[in-house]
Parts: sequence; structure tokens; C-alpha cells
Amino acid sequence: MTERFVVVGAGTMGLGIGYVAAGAGHPVELVEVDRDRGAAAMTRLADLWDRGVRRGKLTVAQAAANQERVTLRAGLAEVAAEPQVIVEAVPERLDLKRAVLAEAEALHPALLGSNTSSIPIAELAEGLTRPERFCGLHFFNPVWAMALLEIVVGSATASETTAAAVTLATRLGKDPVVVRDMPGFATSRLGVALGLEAIRMVADGVADPADIDKAMVLGYRHPVGPLELTDLVGLDVRLDIARTLQAAYGDRFAPPPLLVEMVAAGRLGKKSGQGFYHWADGVRSGGTAQSEAGDGTPGGASADRTGTAR
Ligand code: NAD
Repeated sequence: MTERFVVVGAGTMGLGIGYVAAGAGHPVELVEVDRDRGAAAMTRLADLWDRGVRRGKLTVAQAAANQERVTLRAGLAEVAAEPQVIVEAVPERLDLKRAVLAEAEALHPALLGSNTSSIPIAELAEGLTRPERFCGLHFFNPVWAMALLEIVVGSATASETTAAAVTLATRLGKDPVVVRDMPGFATSRLGVALGLEAIRMVADGVADPADIDKAMVLGYRHPVGPLELTDLVGLDVRLDIARTLQAAYGDRFAPPPLLVEMVAAGRLGKKSGQGFYHWADGVRSGGTAQSEAGDGTPGGASADRTGTAR
């Protein structure tokens, strides 16, 4: 059964969600307010499908059909009413997400989800007229490679909505967990705690980023170290999440000054070319934990297959 998908925000996550939904055969409207980012997302999608063709996973016709299923929209006003699914994937800011969700709800989707990494669903749902149809749909980065979908059930979320989200996960080839609505849910709270401590260790001069990452990769069998993961997620994204968690749980989640400084300097990780590592054409340069140790999966390291993330 094909369902009409609307994905709001064509950044790291919206692009990935659109890719997976279109690849599963669903028509996707990708809504992006930034014209350049929207165009870049469409180009990136075409590149990803071309790569599938080169690897023998898709035929040329399938790649073309996938791309054709995706339509770029400049705003929700351009989207027809009553899609089956709307997933919001705009930056992690409460006011922005609330505004987008209110506009999205007016289109009467059967299921409305937020890809938030840390903001409580109850807070996002304030102001919605049908909060029972709303839940967290927390995908992981890169969406095409990460099996997990964390479904976050708010106090007003109907059991039918949770069931629909679980069905959706399966249709998209994802493996769901259903979690209670607490800031940071089950995943970000733990993952960000590790990332923030690793950044404090860099600031304390404990070791180079590459050696801190290598310690976790080799010593704890993490597929990717906490600093490289921070680069993959985006330092700005992690800073937003840390601030949300700080407001909820106190100063144990206070963002380290080094993180704040790096974001202010535009060192956002992979997407800006510089974070704890240098990135060129989406690939990390320099020999570090990942390139020396592999990513723990057969076939060796790949920046696009590693990660988990928020
Ligand atoms: P991003 O900054 O890469 O992309 C967000 C996009 O939303 C941008 O392209 C921006 O122009 C667009 N946007 C802003 N306002 C908009 C609007 N009103 N309508 C349409 N588009 C709009 O951010 P991201 O990394 O993709 O994160 C998006 C969400 O997903 C956040 O809530 C984040 O916490 C969460 N998340 C991120 C990751 C990750 O690894 N980056 C993983 C899981 C969840």
C-alpha cells in the first residue's frame, strides 16, 4: 500500500527520511524553505540512487522512479491536504517545531510525527488540535543505514497512532522501539551524555580526538567514537539537544564551552567540512580510530554506514 508522505525540512534527516520513504515506493513531498538546501537535497538524492545503481542494488529504471517519487516544495502551503504521514524534521527548536507542526496539522494527516531528538512530545503537542494523532518518529542518521525507529508516545497519543507508527516502521524496513515521553527519550539522553563528556576530555587535554574515539571503538566496541559521531550528527544539532537536556535534567547536560565555541566558529562537523576532524567531500581525512580500526562491520569503514545519531 502506498502512502503519501510529507517530510518537512530537507536537511540531514529530512533528506534521509525522504530517501527511505521514496525507496519503499511512497510518493514524497519534501518541504524545504531554503531554496539552495532544497536543490542540494534533490541532487544528493539523485547521487544516492546513482550509487545504488553502481553497486548493483538498483536498476537505472528503479533509480529514476525513486527520484520521480520525490517532489520538492518551498512550503507547506504548496502541499495538498490529507496526506497519510507528515514527518517534521526542522531544527531542534521548540518554537520553530510548534509553528511547523501547527501548519502541518491543518493538512489533516492521518499520522503526524516529529523527528525531534530530545524535546518532549507533550511540549510539542501543546497547541495541536488533534494531539492524539501525534507522536515522536525518531529516525537515526544516516536514515538509510540505521535500523532503529524510536517511537515516542506522548500523554495524548492514541494507541491507534502508536500502532500506525509501528506499522510504518515495518513498511520502511525499520525496527521500532516504543518509549515513554521523557526528554532525550531512550537514545539521545545516553548518546549525548557520552558525546559531551568526550568533548570535555578534549578540552582537558586527556588525548587527541582520534585517540578518544579509538579508545571507545577498540575498548568498548562502539562502531564509531563519540567525537566522530558528533561530527556526523552536527555540532549545532548536539548543542541544541544539550541545551534541551540541561533545561530538563540540570547542569550535568550543560554544553561544554568548547562545543559552544566551535559552533560559534562555524565548525559544525561533516556538513561544514570541519569539526573534531577535517571532512572533504563527505569523507573524513587523516588516519584516526575509524580508518585504522574499521567500523566493526564486514567490509571496513564507511562514513555513510557508520553512526547512529542525534
Ligand atoms: P538540519 O539543520 O540538517 O536540517 C533542517 C532543515 O530544515 C534545514 O534544511 C532548514 O532549512 C529546514 N527548515 C527550517 N525551517 C523550516 C520550515 N519552516 N519549513 C521547512 N524546512 C525548514 O537538521 P537535521 O540534522 O536534519 O535535524 C532535524 C531534526 O532531526 C532535529 O530535530 C534533530 O534534533 C533531529 N535529528 C537529527 C539527527 C542528526 O544526526 N542530525 C538524528 C536524529 C534526529
